[in-house]
Amino acid sequence: MNILICGGAGYIGSHMVKMLAGQGHQVVVFDNLSTGHKEAVAGGVELVMGDLLRPGDLAALFSRHHFDAVMHFSAKSLVGESVMNPALYYANNVIGTINLLDAMRNHGVSRFIFSSSASIFGNPLQERINESHPQAPINPYGKTKLMVEHILRDYHAAYGLRSVSLRYFNAAGADPGGEIGESHQPETHLLPNILYSLLTGQKELKVFGREYNTPDGTCVRDYIHINDLCDAHLLALSFLEKNDGAHGFNLGNGNGFSVLEMIHSAEQVTGRKIAFTSAPPRSGDPATLVADSTLAVRQLVWQPKYTKIDDIIATAWHWHQNQRF
Ligand code: UDP
Repeated sequence: MNILICGGAGYIGSHMVKMLAGQGHQVVVFDNLSTGHKEAVAGGVELVMGDLLRPGDLAALFSRHHFDAVMHFSAKSLVGESVMNPALYYANNVIGTINLLDAMRNHGVSRFIFSSSASIFGNPLQERINESHPQAPINPYGKTKLMVEHILRDYHAAYGLRSVSLRYFNAAGADPGGEIGESHQPETHLLPNILYSLLTGQKELKVFGREYNTPDGTCVRDYIHINDLCDAHLLALSFLEKNDGAHGFNLGNGNGFSVLEMIHSAEQVTGRKIAFTSAPPRSGDPATLVADSTLAVRQLVWQPKYTKIDDIIATAWHWHQNQRF
């Protein structure tokens, strides 16, 4: 297939590009490199520099290429930043996506896989979040993702656009081949921060919030390996061949790990002691987010391969050790 990957130079997008290219698909990456890395795009794949907020960039891209489907990974994705600067989030994540969908409409492209997020659900009302959980995001980031899901339903009803929204819980780990991994500037995510603090000793690891309503007082998240997420995208593409509609699936391992448990696991994997300090909670962070992915397992026939947190951390550690910081 000919597939457009928006945000293919970013963490999740670059792993997707590698997987698709490895399976012989024709892939084009569209990215503004605001947070992505040129060198993360797999060799031989065309990288088109452009911005979703400039419809002219999209018109030029779609005129030059024929696409069977689009996967959309480009987004601002930091909860705290979205609370401080919601305008940036509504513009990039909502207006940018509308521009992309309209370019698809103008060029007759009708298959769309959207990177959504667990944050569309807000504070959980049950232990594991399934697709029928109420959708009540508690930060602008989550609201932008939910808005796009609503837009996708309306675009399906009015224009016949088929879509799957994949609500990631916490993407983690790296390409097991060690070629690409997770690196943001500035880094805010837990696992890279743990490994970075170990490797450089430059940035002290902080644990944000020790008094959440969780067993050890720190936030609990459901960490899912990046390649398991990418597998789900491939399955979602096949699903759209057979199924009309605008669909949503939750993707996680179904097990929660607290920040302290993640630190402990990283100590096991790396064989080193990890120093940290306690810091106030980050705004917009819910106490617990754990997925119930039964629907994806059944309907997409998806099965995460990395079920142990130590194995996920080991892939990240493998990549991080070979980086120059
Ligand atoms: N966290 C932390 N220290 C860090 C980064 C993150 O304590 O340096 C916590 C954060 O408050 C959250 C969890 O780790 O409870 C996961 O955060 P991350 O930013 O990795 O993902 P998010 O859940 O925000 O998407």
